[in-house]
Order: sequence, then C-alpha cells, then structure tokens
Amino acid sequence: MNAERGDREASELDADLALASARLERATPAERLAFAVERFGDDLLFTSSFGAQSGVLLHLWSEVARGLPVVFIDTGFLFAETLAYRDALADKLGLTVRVLRPEIPNAEFVARWGDDVQARDPDFCCGLNKVLPLAPLRDAARAWVSGLRRDQSRAREGVGILERDGHLVRVHPLATLTKADVARYLADHGIPEHPLVARRYLSIGCAPCTRAVADGEDERAGRWAWSNKTECGLHARPPGHEPGR
Ligand code: SF4
Repeated sequence: MNAERGDREASELDADLALASARLERATPAERLAFAVERFGDDLLFTSSFGAQSGVLLHLWSEVARGLPVVFIDTGFLFAETLAYRDALADKLGLTVRVLRPEIPNAEFVARWGDDVQARDPDFCCGLNKVLPLAPLRDAARAWVSGLRRDQSRAREGVGILERDGHLVRVHPLATLTKADVARYLADHGIPEHPLVARRYLSIGCAPCTRAVADGEDERAGRWAWSNKTECGLHARPPGHEPGR
C-alpha cells in the first residue's frame, strides 16, 4: 500500500470512528459494548484490574461478551483483597479470567531493583510488570475495552466512547457514567463492592502505589499520590530502561 492510500484509509477510519462514537454517546453502556463485540469479535481485548470500579463492566461483559476472556495482570504487588475479589466475581459472573504475569518473578524483581523501586521510578516498575506482559495481546488485538469514565479525574474528562490509538480502537462503554451511576448499578445487580472500598480506597491498583482518598479528592487521587504519574500503561516510558535513583 502506498503512503497516500494508507493516509486516506486512516482518515476514513477516523471519520468512521468519530461518527460511530458520536452515535454511541446516546447509547447505553450495554449497547456500546455490544457494538464493540459485534464489530471486533475475538479481536477485542478486555483488561480488568478487578478494582473498586470494575464490577459494572465485568457484569456487562458477562452478559454481552460471555465466553470471551477477561485479561487480568497480576503484577505481584496487588492487594490480597483484590485477588480474592477477582476469584469471587469470576465465580459469581461465570467469567473466564486469563491471568498474565511479568517475566521476572516478583521476588526476583524486588531483589534486583529494591523494595522502593516504585517510589524512585514507577514508570519503570509499571513498564516491566504491567506494560510488557500485556504487549503481545495488545499488539494482536484490534480493539481494547476498558472502564475509563469522564468523572474519575481531570486526566480522563475528555475520554471518548471510541478513540483510535495507533492500530487499536479504544472502547470506553462507561465513559458517561458517574460515580453515583456505578454505585446504583452495583446495588441494582447485587454485585459486591471491592472490600477495600469501605476503607475509602476508591481506585485500587498495586498496594505500594495506592492509598485511601479523602473527602473531596478525585477518586484516583490515591494512585501514585507522591508523584505526578496518573496512568499505568500508555503514558509510561518505554519499558526496559534502568530505574532512576
Ligand atoms: S502500580 Fe506501582 S507496583 Fe504496580 S506495576 Fe506500577 S509502579 Fe509497580
């Protein structure tokens, strides 16, 4: 394919996505997810952290995409409560969970780079423990579903229902939901909360990088709270460099 034709096809794809995304603004989260399942089928990647906000999308996935796997990255730094919540929800909803782990086992990683590596260089740690394990599936997929919502933080307030990200289409079925919508959905469908929510952990990642939030803070304010890092994957520096000191 010559460059001009490639550019034309890319801009047609962007226009098509923009139209579909605008149309899906008025759809329900289930309809948005159904659109993605129908359009991308087995090439649709769904990752979940089984965190504080994960229950809604996991429930929708179990209804709309039953049989397709949920990908879970076990970094080795997760709360025990998260692993227990994953197992309980997978059982309740009948989910097929595919667990990815880093190539370097957790004990070896800590021995090599120290137990304060997150404080010194969280991008390095996320790169090796989150970004790299997912890379083969990410490269093979055509679209990627995640639970980002516009009201979660300043960094997420512009999230679209569909967005192009290189070769991938990012799909955000919950983009327009509020924190109150999520709480109502969980209650209406009998989905248990992550056990740490009661202790005001409103966004839950790895234990060394998550704290409870205070009244009035963004729900993601407890993630990497000592640094200006706000996201784990796409905004991380390329993995593989030595950590900062
Ligand atoms: S969230 Fe923290 S512990 Fe988990 S991979 Fe990223 S830096 Fe490492």
